[in-house]
Amino acid sequence: MKTLTLSTPVKDLFMVGPVYAKRLARLNLQTAEDLLHHYPFRYEDYRLFSKIRQLQAKEVVTVVGQIISFENIYTKGGKKFQKIIVADETGEIQVIFFNQPFLKKTLKPGLRISLAGRVEFFNARLSFLNPEYELIKEPKAKLNIRSENFIHTGRLVPIYPETAQVSSRWLRSRIAPLLNHLLPSLKDWLPASIQVKEQLLNLQTALKQIHFPANPAEAKAAKTRLAFDELFLLQLASLRRRHHWQQQKNGPPLKINKLALLKFIQKLPFVLTDDQKQVLREILGDLIKNQPMNRLLQGDVGCGKTVVAAVAAYATYLAGYQSVLMAPTEILANQHYQTFKTLLEPFGLKIKLITSGTSPSKDKKLKNKPEKAVDIFIGTHALLYPHLELKKLGLVIIDEQHRFGVEQRAKLIKKGKNPHLLIMTATPIPRTVALTLYGDLNLSIIKQMPQGRRQVKTWVVPPQKRAAAYNWIRKQIKNLEEGNQAFIVCPLIEPSTVESLKDIKAAKEEFKNLSQKIFPDLRLGLLHGRLKSREKETIINDFRLKKIDILVATPVVEVGIDIPDATIMVVEGADRFGLATLHQLRGRVGRSHKQSYCLLFASQKDKSYQRLKLMETCHQGMKLAEMDLKWRGPGELYGTAQHGFIKFKLASFSDSQLIEKTHQAALGLLEKENYNLKNLPLLHQKLEKVTIKAVEPN
Ligand code: ADP
Ligand code: MG
Repeated sequence: MKTLTLSTPVKDLFMVGPVYAKRLARLNLQTAEDLLHHYPFRYEDYRLFSKIRQLQAKEVVTVVGQIISFENIYTKGGKKFQKIIVADETGEIQVIFFNQPFLKKTLKPGLRISLAGRVEFFNARLSFLNPEYELIKEPKAKLNIRSENFIHTGRLVPIYPETAQVSSRWLRSRIAPLLNHLLPSLKDWLPASIQVKEQLLNLQTALKQIHFPANPAEAKAAKTRLAFDELFLLQLASLRRRHHWQQQKNGPPLKINKLALLKFIQKLPFVLTDDQKQVLREILGDLIKNQPMNRLLQGDVGCGKTVVAAVAAYATYLAGYQSVLMAPTEILANQHYQTFKTLLEPFGLKIKLITSGTSPSKDKKLKNKPEKAVDIFIGTHALLYPHLELKKLGLVIIDEQHRFGVEQRAKLIKKGKNPHLLIMTATPIPRTVALTLYGDLNLSIIKQMPQGRRQVKTWVVPPQKRAAAYNWIRKQIKNLEEGNQAFIVCPLIEPSTVESLKDIKAAKEEFKNLSQKIFPDLRLGLLHGRLKSREKETIINDFRLKKIDILVATPVVEVGIDIPDATIMVVEGADRFGLATLHQLRGRVGRSHKQSYCLLFASQKDKSYQRLKLMETCHQGMKLAEMDLKWRGPGELYGTAQHGFIKFKLASFSDSQLIEKTHQAALGLLEKENYNLKNLPLLHQKLEKVTIKAVEPN
């Protein structure tokens, strides 16, 4: 076998192989190093050792003894279980496993075993039911049991984020030998000066202790160091980007044609809100500079960011430059394309849509046509294809930023010579988060909603009221005067920002159920990411034209879609969503003067029911995002994923102290090193790795 290093792929590891490698990929574990950084989210405390005679029901303990007998038992009812008797010098205990006949091969009478778990009654006898166990290989003469040699029993035992057919037990058995092999030669990339100043463990110790701590204090110290790492690297990356950007003085300073702009704004079908005007002033103030703009425009769904982008693009056109607008999905790109066409074509601009369906590589004629003739390109990441060359790019606009990585942002910018950059997001970003992730960006915020909007009435609907809710929806839709339409968003099967096959399957089933059993009298449509772009367009258009009453959709589909007549938003399995995400979904309705409604279907047993209730009273994205941060326990697995930015394993955006500390440490280091990491090659390498990983695949 090849020598084991940090970058050894998991499939080449001892006792892993291709089948498990595939399963591990679901947890995003590709290499030995990834496994070392797959941290437990809690520990089972099996530190208490007991003699068998002293065992009491309900106690959680570890017992060490010898296997006396092993029996596979089949009950009359057809159930299978395994009965093992284990003895120490004080007595015997019954150990029951369910449906694990294969244990017969390993748990042989005569062997010494360590068992851990809760002691329970089974068939009126004190027993261990499905306990953790491990065979003891130390020679019997060595009576002294050393719990640091245990991994499943007799200590704090790590419990990991799992996935189907990859258990914590399996992970422990693989991670423990990796630690033994890799830690001794592991080099710490965090400069010693910072370790000393912040009183942090070194990397070896931290990794050892996060997986197999001797006590809770060790686990805590390990977490502190590893959480520091996560935020520190992020800070470094963002500070370096900011520095790099500040060095650039050669952007295109645009000449603003105020008169023409005002004319355009006056011709809009509505009056801009004060916030929209203010944000435009900030943007135009940036565009005239020779330092490229680097601005994040944040505003709740429906606040009207698109028109701001259109004005900025028009200003760029008036100054003689091109703009591009990149959106995360085809439907959104298409919607923006329509909006821009309606607004700007009357003023003589040429706008072109670029999606994978219309990519320049497939469009041969286009190659010969000079792209200079186009004033605004709107599209998906198909805009990034190298075929698209832009002669005079002045402004890059990115919609729903968190769907794109820094890398893609950079790629688009490189299509021009230091163009101005405007990033738009509806994801409410608490200040601390903005400071960490977007330290390199200036922030503009739209807080105000356009006039005439009514608050979306929101109800959390428990299972027993579901039928009534469906009837109510039918009544609303059949009310022809109002012409109401509804979205029904399917449950989130796997927490992720990309749509999984399971999500699509669930949506298809829900669609079938709804259209056949619940609403056979209404016209339903189904929208999911695997549809061809033509099909998607048709469905959205039919919905817009009211040929469809209810649009059933997958959870992550089409964040920014704008259908003014849709007044009902139903979210299935709402307890699986973060509040901020629910708020985004709710923002799909309530876009006209009509009263709109949001129904959140959730099981009442779930403790997150109380959390959901907040949606009924709170209508501010930012507040809800902050609530989300608070409600999430430190161990919660997918908490930050729902935030849509980045997946922290240990750190948290609500830890403002650590955010500040890592910010100072990163800043101090960069200033000392003159923003050059060539003296710190290990750190440099590490930084490259994490920043590349942070980019989401499309
Ligand atoms: P978002 O900020 O979520 O991207 P949009 O730009 O899609 O929101 O705008 C939502 C809707 O509000 C659109 O139909 C748009 O035409 C409308 N809108 C935008 N600004 C105003 C305004 N000042 N007054 C009235 N309606 C507006
Ligand atoms: Mg939008």
